[in-house]
Amino acid sequence: MLDWSEPTANPAAPIRVAFETGEAPIADATGLGAIERGGSRVRVDDKRMINARADVNQLLPLKYRWAWEKYLSGCNNHWMPTEVSMQADIALWKSRDGLTEDERRMLKRNLGFFAASESLVANNIVLAIYRHLTNPECRQYLLRQAFEEAIHTHTFQYIVESLSLDEGELFNMYREVPSITDKAAWALKHTQHLDDPDFRTGTPEADQAFLRDLVAFYVIFEGMWFYTGFAQILSLGRRNKMVGIAEQYQYILRDESIHLNFGIDVINQIKIENPHLWTKAFQDNVRTMIADAAELEAAYGRDTMPRGFLGLNAALCEQYMYFIANRRCAQLGLQPVFAEAENPFPWMSEAMDLKKEKNFFETRVIEYQNGGALSWD
Ligand code: MN
Ligand code: FE
Repeated sequence: MLDWSEPTANPAAPIRVAFETGEAPIADATGLGAIERGGSRVRVDDKRMINARADVNQLLPLKYRWAWEKYLSGCNNHWMPTEVSMQADIALWKSRDGLTEDERRMLKRNLGFFAASESLVANNIVLAIYRHLTNPECRQYLLRQAFEEAIHTHTFQYIVESLSLDEGELFNMYREVPSITDKAAWALKHTQHLDDPDFRTGTPEADQAFLRDLVAFYVIFEGMWFYTGFAQILSLGRRNKMVGIAEQYQYILRDESIHLNFGIDVINQIKIENPHLWTKAFQDNVRTMIADAAELEAAYGRDTMPRGFLGLNAALCEQYMYFIANRRCAQLGLQPVFAEAENPFPWMSEAMDLKKEKNFFETRVIEYQNGGALSWD
């Protein structure tokens, strides 16, 4: 059963780390090095989040059950965008007065933000995070997450095709609309260190650079910016507008909640294993990142909703961002960065209570091909 509760600063799984004596030597971090013939069997206590000390090619014995559980939850939540009917959305989009100009502007910019962001997140997982996160059960989850990001990108392809939107306009928005470019450029700054072919973890500076990438992409990109994006579309859906896209966003939101919680657990576990990285200066650095990111999001809110409409405007989105930013700080064990803010969108938590079994498969029967029903035609 999927657990929607957000992780706290201490992951639930029992942690036993043998720092004191007999620490295993640093192991090959990628798993692609020469095989150590006759190497000894993996001891669970030698497994590490970063800077491996056990063979990264052996999933078992499991150490971080929370990572394995998230992999299983991701698989249980499988969905495809093409299973959602777009008929009502197409009719509304094509009708002359179904949507206001303000709603159209917000919708297009929202789609444009997500269309490129899903690829940025996927590239960061595959080309930066995966290489330096040296735990096989976490990598198992990263592989699942990477596929989910592909499904999310597919969603935007499917929306563009269904509504006959201008694909160049939408997918290139992250280079044409400054409030979107500013967010993407801010996040990319934090993954570019890891893109350096000589980058290796193992020094406090490098390990902190890796942590900053995790914060920028999991906590901020997926954990803050995506949330105002979901609120924008789900608010339309609550008024019965663009209900197909709203349904797809609910599935994306469900996936992203696990991505976020995985990232929080990873960061907190790295903290536990490497307390020397979590200095006061570094904590202030992370809090500043979160505060700056909230201001970038407020600017995006003003740009996408210059006038606002029923139930939604830039000021409410800004307040929501402050609320979310403080919540993310608490999840990382940090002091809040903003004055206490009330959640202006309490219905967002209901949107996350979506149960696929109830809302989704009850209404249509989907048979995924499995080994027993494989057709080669
Ligand atoms: Mn995604
Ligand atoms: Fe994600």
